[in-house]
Amino acid sequence: MRSNPAAQRTAFSRWLLRWASAINHMRCTRFRLFVLFLMLLSSTVILAQPYQGPIIDAHGHLGASFNWEIMVEAMDRNNVTQRTVMARYYPGGIGDLPGSDEDAVRLAERYPGRFFPLVGMQRPLLTGSHKWQSPDREVDRLVEETERKLASGRYFGIGEFIVRHWSYSPGAHAEQENPIYSAFMQRTSAIAARFEVPMVIHMEGYPALVGDFSRLLAEYPNVRFVWAHSCGRSKAPVIRGMLARHPNLFCDLAQMTNVGTTGYGIGWPRMEEFTALIEQDGALFPDMKALYEEFPDRFMLGMDVAHASGNTPQNYSRRVSRFRELLGQLKPETAKKFAETNAIRVFKLGGTITR
Ligand SMILES: [Zn+2]
Repeated sequence: MRSNPAAQRTAFSRWLLRWASAINHMRCTRFRLFVLFLMLLSSTVILAQPYQGPIIDAHGHLGASFNWEIMVEAMDRNNVTQRTVMARYYPGGIGDLPGSDEDAVRLAERYPGRFFPLVGMQRPLLTGSHKWQSPDREVDRLVEETERKLASGRYFGIGEFIVRHWSYSPGAHAEQENPIYSAFMQRTSAIAARFEVPMVIHMEGYPALVGDFSRLLAEYPNVRFVWAHSCGRSKAPVIRGMLARHPNLFCDLAQMTNVGTTGYGIGWPRMEEFTALIEQDGALFPDMKALYEEFPDRFMLGMDVAHASGNTPQNYSRRVSRFRELLGQLKPETAKKFAETNAIRVFKLGGTITR
């Protein structure tokens, strides 16, 4: 653990004062300026300490092969108090079996106050854009089931809807190209409005899709839409335009940390002309930082562990630690909103467990 930051600051101020008086006695102006520059530099580094408060992971998943104890251990180690859970129904291979909403509810019951299930939408039955345009019997049943599950009061939202997804593995469901403005999305949006729950959407930010999403957002102003992965990895001006136009739009920064060998934050599995990263070597890009301060109420964090192989404390810690570094570069009140407050409000979570 770090020593008390307040004590650190007091010691630092004393040190500053000593130097200030020493500099007063200096004759050479150029040397004085140089020392002042060094002091300014070191004070900036000290101010940009990593964020220390509790964090809510607003983009979590579950498969049947996930070890629950490891999930909790990874959270505890990193002071992550709460986590949303979106069951991944897609197959993931022998050691990574598909999950279910029922599993997500059981996990939430096993660890009260820690996990918040959403009705999962990463489902093989939704592969095929025609099913989104004109839902078949199977999709109809899913919509009805979603209504029943929300009526039970055990779910905090719907998602993750896989609208436009770039393949990072072989398989029938790896590459997805579905319409955001479609009968399926309209029906689920109407249900979300009725139950007052948010919808989490994965959609790489193709300009045509962004336009279509605008129509959906305008048509369902009472639904809170969470556009995952830094609003489909869009560039700052696109995100700014969408947030300004649509008060019901939110962004999560799931997997946007530039760490490791996979993850959207390193431009994996690919990048396009319209995509952007948010940081490099732990420093937020200035346009993203400005955007965050401009819209402090609209962003959330997420670790996005979607496969059993990624469910390790090491992987989790690496992502959380980087988020802490990035939050340290924002105003303290903005950082707290990103870390906790926005997720509590958008997902209507009970509040933070103080640890
Ligand atoms: Zn996603």
